[in-house]
Amino acid sequence: MSSRTDSRGGESFQDVPLPGLELPPRGSSSTPSSRSRPYSSTLPPTPAAIHAFSSRVVKAPGQGCWLWTGAISAGDGYGRITWRHGATSRTESAHRFALLIADQLTVGVVGEHRCNEPLCVRVDEGHLIASTQAANLRYAVACGRTGIIRTLLHRQDRHARSLAVRAAVAGGWNAVAYARASGNTAPLDTPQLF
Ligand SMILES: [Zn+2]
Repeated sequence: MSSRTDSRGGESFQDVPLPGLELPPRGSSSTPSSRSRPYSSTLPPTPAAIHAFSSRVVKAPGQGCWLWTGAISAGDGYGRITWRHGATSRTESAHRFALLIADQLTVGVVGEHRCNEPLCVRVDEGHLIASTQAANLRYAVACGRTGIIRTLLHRQDRHARSLAVRAAVAGGWNAVAYARASGNTAPLDTPQLF
């Protein structure tokens, strides 16, 4: 077996642009190029990676979110996990990893948070679904949370918010601390599009 994966080690990696709720910057590359070890965007999840992932998820009760508490990308504020198999490594956002192990991360798929919680990794119709960039953008527009001009600020805001949310639930689910950190006191009002 490979050695235990430390997802926090992902913070030392070059940030990988990932589809979020905005369009990615023009000219961005999804393939990290300057790595000292081989990188594979198709490396399957290893049992160690799945174990490391699961150990960093805090579940709100009932129909609540499942929150990632591992590494968070300074670039976009989403969770990040890096795993290795032999000499090869792969980095994904935490929510894409959740879709990957649910066997829903096919080519062109982007994760869409119906619960408006960027750290949520619960693959569920009310939380995280496999979507397309176009559908994801339509949903963001309908929720009033898009605008390419404010993308950078939005990402910085999301990073700060994600750090606060992670700290709030680091010791286990805490509804009061989560509400304070996230600004989500209840499931957000979102339009029913589909
Ligand atoms: Zn959720």
